[in-house]
Amino acid sequence: MTECEICGAEIEGKAQYIAIGSSKLRVCKTCARYGTVVTEDAEAQVKTKTSVGSEQAKQAKQAKLTQAKRRLYEQMDHEIEEGLEIDDDYGRKIKEAREKAGLKQAELALRINERQSLLRKIEHEEIMPTDAVRKKIERLLKISL
Ligand SMILES: [Zn+2]
Repeated sequence: MTECEICGAEIEGKAQYIAIGSSKLRVCKTCARYGTVVTEDAEAQVKTKTSVGSEQAKQAKQAKLTQAKRRLYEQMDHEIEEGLEIDDDYGRKIKEAREKAGLKQAELALRINERQSLLRKIEHEEIMPTDAVRKKIERLLKISL
């Protein structure tokens, strides 16, 4: 049994929905004139609006997915670029660019979020920087290795 939310009478046939301010009421035909009749679609929209929480969760999920995808693409980029040769005097280049930028080894290491010992080894050309580290150094010192 469906009752009109305004007069309390039983609604015969299809109930009508009207909007009064921000609230929506299920009313009988007689009471429908008290407000703006809303369509089924509008009703669906109201429902969507009330479930904003889950909508946000959905969006967050979507954003995470997009991020993961982007990371995957970056990874793919790296793999493609891995075949590229690095300058064989990369250590000297980094050191020079770093000194030109007025950065101490420790400061540069901090900025690229790596250990100073790693940076030192790279500058001494004891080890090759990984692609990720190399990219960070290149970006920060605006050089190309
Ligand atoms: Zn009524």
